[in-house]
Amino acid sequence: MFDTVLIANRGEIALRILRACRGLGLRTVVAYSQADREADYVAQADEALCIGPAAPGQSYLNQSAILFAAEVSGAQAIHPGYGFLSENAGFAERIEQAGLVFVGPSAACIRTLGDKVAAKRAMRRAGVPCVPGPDEGLPEDPTAIKTLAREVGYPVIVKAAGGGGGRGMRVVHDESGLLDALALTREEARRAFGNPEVYIEKFLVHPRHVEIQVLADKHGHAVWLGSRDCSLQRRHQKVIEEAPAPGIDEALIAEVGERCAAACRQLGYAGVGTFEFLYEKGAFYFIEMNTRLQVEHPVTEMTSGIDIVQQQLRMARGELLGFTQADVRCHGHAIECRINAEDPDTFAPSPGRITGWQMPGGFGVRVDSHANAGYRVPPYYDSMIAKLIVQGTTRADALDRMRLALSEMRVEGIATNVPLHRRILRDAGFDAGGVDIHHLERWLAAGSAA
Ligand code: ADP
Repeated sequence: MFDTVLIANRGEIALRILRACRGLGLRTVVAYSQADREADYVAQADEALCIGPAAPGQSYLNQSAILFAAEVSGAQAIHPGYGFLSENAGFAERIEQAGLVFVGPSAACIRTLGDKVAAKRAMRRAGVPCVPGPDEGLPEDPTAIKTLAREVGYPVIVKAAGGGGGRGMRVVHDESGLLDALALTREEARRAFGNPEVYIEKFLVHPRHVEIQVLADKHGHAVWLGSRDCSLQRRHQKVIEEAPAPGIDEALIAEVGERCAAACRQLGYAGVGTFEFLYEKGAFYFIEMNTRLQVEHPVTEMTSGIDIVQQQLRMARGELLGFTQADVRCHGHAIECRINAEDPDTFAPSPGRITGWQMPGGFGVRVDSHANAGYRVPPYYDSMIAKLIVQGTTRADALDRMRLALSEMRVEGIATNVPLHRRILRDAGFDAGGVDIHHLERWLAAGSAA
């Protein structure tokens, strides 16, 4: 049990966690960098400690500084948010060894699931559908490699077991390119991730990105909270997310959801997590598991009515899951637009002082943001400054509500991608639902900005 939580993150998610802690009556300590010292959420915390200069390596990624901040503030738990140290097994281990609580799964679980080959093997064992391909690293023998690739069938994708952030992957269209792609990926993996293991799987040409949110306690109970579709991406970065994934048979989603919950039980996974799948031609294929809270968790909160961050904290405190799968009922449709401080046409970051800040409101509208008029967006971090989330009875209702909300939104002093979101919400393809992960880039390349 803990009563004080150190928030080792920044921006909107630091505020989101702060609110969840307050809702549970927990004391909060915010660990902030010098670049974030003026942010309102820092002042709102019960205690705030500067952990270093702006550069993430010296602050939000500085494990010793964060552990020291926990020690001096008396925090017994550390919430890592997303990004930064949230999926760092070594950090989770240091927290465990210090006798503190890492708000997330065990270090051992993070380690297993952070290795894509080990994760795939564990998932296949638990009956979670995976992308076709062997769930082990590739052998050294070129002939054996070629045989394996032929069995999978071209095109294949060569992936680094330790890869992440969209790096360490190469698509191979026929046998002539296989061994070169393999050597390049292996070398890249060795240098970037310190792990040369690579594997291959079938490359899916037009998949959607569909994910399942799970919640598990430390006593062997796990539930899934519906699906999300995050196919609208640019450079592997999600731009708009929605729940549920439109146009997919509910019985199929339920079957996959049950498998995900079962996998959590089998792995002894505790906390919140997301099973990421590619979905193509009516089938789900597991690609990876995120062992942390995700940016897009609010769309699931809106449809399920469950405060995911409060639940995450409760699970970390060792509480029993307070409801069963039968109690989870998702209603309506929710959509989230990520609002970034960036040029809507060139995508160049646009940090600086916000001079005007007018947020939309009304029924079914939620804004998660740490920003306001006068806030200076620092140039050192991710450019997301707000998440605009809406809910409607149907997807069409939610789309209408999002159009209205975007029309009310005004941010002055810096450039934002709000105009881009307004244009996407007029795209007939997105409006119809169920676009693939290449849709946004195709649409941008076709000059749909007009
Ligand atoms: P990372 O951990 O780097 O994000 P993922 O395994 O999640 O890596 O893959 C990132 C992205 O790469 C996916 O969202 C998808 O766009 C693409 N991708 C990965 N595996 C495949 C595959 N088998 N077929 C097609 N695209 C893939």
